[in-house]
Amino acid sequence: MTGQFVEQEPDSDGNARQVANSRLAAVLQQVWGYDSFRPLQREAMQSIMDDHDSLIVLPTGGGKSLCFQAPALCREGLAVVVSPLISLMKDQVDALRDCGVAAAFLNSTLTREQQRVVSEGVNRGEYRLLYVSPERLVTDRMLEFLRAAGLSFIAVDEAHCISQWGHDFRPEYRQLAVLRETFPKLSLHAYTATATERVRCDIVAALRLREPHVLVGSFDRPNLTFRVLQRKDRLQQIRAILDRHPGESGIIYCISRANVDETSTSLNQLGYRTRGYHAGMDGADRKACQDGFISERIDTVVATVAFGMGIDKSNVRYVIHAGMPKSLEHYQQEAGRAGRDGLEAECTLLYSAGDFLTWKRILESGETPAPAAALESLNRMAAYCSTVLCRHRMLVSHFGEHYDRSSCAACDVCLDEIELIDDALIVGQKILSSVVRQGQRFGGEYTSLVLQGSQDRRVVQNGHDQLSTWGLLSDHSQSTIRDWIEQLVAQEFLERSGEFNVLRLTVSGRQLLSGQITPRLARPMRRKSKSDSPRRSVADEAWQGVDAGLFEQLRGLRRALAQQRGVPPYIVFGDASLRAMACFRPTTLDGFLAIRGVGDAKLREYGDEFVNSIAAWCREHRLATDLTPGEIQAAIRTAADTRSASGDADSGPVLRHAEGSQRAR
Ligand code: ADP
Repeated sequence: MTGQFVEQEPDSDGNARQVANSRLAAVLQQVWGYDSFRPLQREAMQSIMDDHDSLIVLPTGGGKSLCFQAPALCREGLAVVVSPLISLMKDQVDALRDCGVAAAFLNSTLTREQQRVVSEGVNRGEYRLLYVSPERLVTDRMLEFLRAAGLSFIAVDEAHCISQWGHDFRPEYRQLAVLRETFPKLSLHAYTATATERVRCDIVAALRLREPHVLVGSFDRPNLTFRVLQRKDRLQQIRAILDRHPGESGIIYCISRANVDETSTSLNQLGYRTRGYHAGMDGADRKACQDGFISERIDTVVATVAFGMGIDKSNVRYVIHAGMPKSLEHYQQEAGRAGRDGLEAECTLLYSAGDFLTWKRILESGETPAPAAALESLNRMAAYCSTVLCRHRMLVSHFGEHYDRSSCAACDVCLDEIELIDDALIVGQKILSSVVRQGQRFGGEYTSLVLQGSQDRRVVQNGHDQLSTWGLLSDHSQSTIRDWIEQLVAQEFLERSGEFNVLRLTVSGRQLLSGQITPRLARPMRRKSKSDSPRRSVADEAWQGVDAGLFEQLRGLRRALAQQRGVPPYIVFGDASLRAMACFRPTTLDGFLAIRGVGDAKLREYGDEFVNSIAAWCREHRLATDLTPGEIQAAIRTAADTRSASGDADSGPVLRHAEGSQRAR
């Protein structure tokens, strides 16, 4: 494979671009079996082809790795990739090798002998990509060795680790500054999923990037369905989600280690294949948990935030937060581990107003006072939990991006699962009026007591049982009132201020009070009945035309092949490819090659076994094979007509159609 795609450089710039572009497209097709670029991938690859420094900011699952892997195959010399985590390096190198690309890594897990083999391979020019840990890369010996090896370019993955403002600062990344001096002629390329301006500037400065192309992708993840549920019976709520995903992979995040142990044990006793993970466990137990998850021997990891970094598993179908995280940055990162393969996945947060106070106590119990920024992050997170506006919109706008779709069709608000109350204006006015009458000197908890008509000692002592707003909402529970207050904060009619988080009216709050604006208030404990079996519009799309039984059969085959080869199943094929196979059902190698995700090497390696398995299944179940996109569309239409004729709109498609349909044939 070495140098296979390198051709003569043409003379004019435009022409060179075109040639580079078609080379990249050919590599994408032949090696990875992909027929199109993801957003910004082409531009990111072009920067490497042009030898122009770049900083690429794409969300998790955006396809950053390909941005440097594909150009590495189109250029002379060895591409060096700096990567912070040993597990990530191994995963990427395994995946590259499975696609037939000569790649290797150098890190502390290799024996001396293994290191010698890799070094000799580098000297012989055998590899297209070499992954190196930052601390190893910056040693004089390694720099000298690589100078002699003839590099094509250097890619710095997870580049936010260089920034003190990022969430994963690694001091050894700072030393990468030496790369610019050592390799003045090489272009440097940085990749991250962390979008803040400060981190970006830090990366550019610390790596001394020269007028880099800075490409920032959209941070929306349309394939993720976001929901927030009031936490009632935690275990029951978790089970409802797990039961929607039998045999599929997922993560449950808990705030405390005790919660992890308790939840994992209860789920195990109920027959779910789960395992706990937290920093208090010993290394061997943690590794067993990670390995079991990656190789799909266990379905669900119940974990603290300690779990996830370095897990590249692309087919995580659900992430549940059993409690509120402390910031939207954390939430986005943790929930973002779902659906990296671009297929539908659900992210559910179980929330109780007490979570806010728990975090506040934790933040304030430190030796140094909690920075105002941490409290602000906490407020934003609580606002997300209480919002009755589109959650996709709220997430992307938090990261400074404009969201121009009117409905995301992938959150509980836009899916119309939340029941709004009719008299929101009056309820809102009652709450705000109480805040004003209390002198804007009390917090949400206290205000809800007053409105509920409580005889609480403090309320009576303050004489607030004499206020005209006392007991105005006595028809509702205190927790409902508390939640409405949070919703008003989330919609910025109220703001919290000062050390005690006292509530104050904002400018829009005053407009609400005078009836000029109406808030949206949800009945917190009641969701529309369909939330018990939620409408899965994003999911429906991704499953159309797919024969679910065949998909399961192919999953089993994938697991067995992965085990034989000692790699994770998702390295053999992603779920998207399996669904495309279960949709088009190719029984010839030509047909198999047309499935997205099947490149030349995978065709050779796995083609026969998959094609035989598909043919056998279809014979046994009398299913049509070798379908064209047109035939699949027709089958989907027929299935939809049959369902609507029988009034069974939500029974889920029998035939489900997959992402691969665009490409196959
Ligand atoms: P990131 O590093 O940005 O989180 P990855 O590089 O792991 O994302 O890519 C996520 C998934 O998307 C992988 O399974 C990868 O193979 C797939 N992918 C990347 N580029 C494409 C493409 N152009 N077409 C289809 N799938 C792609």
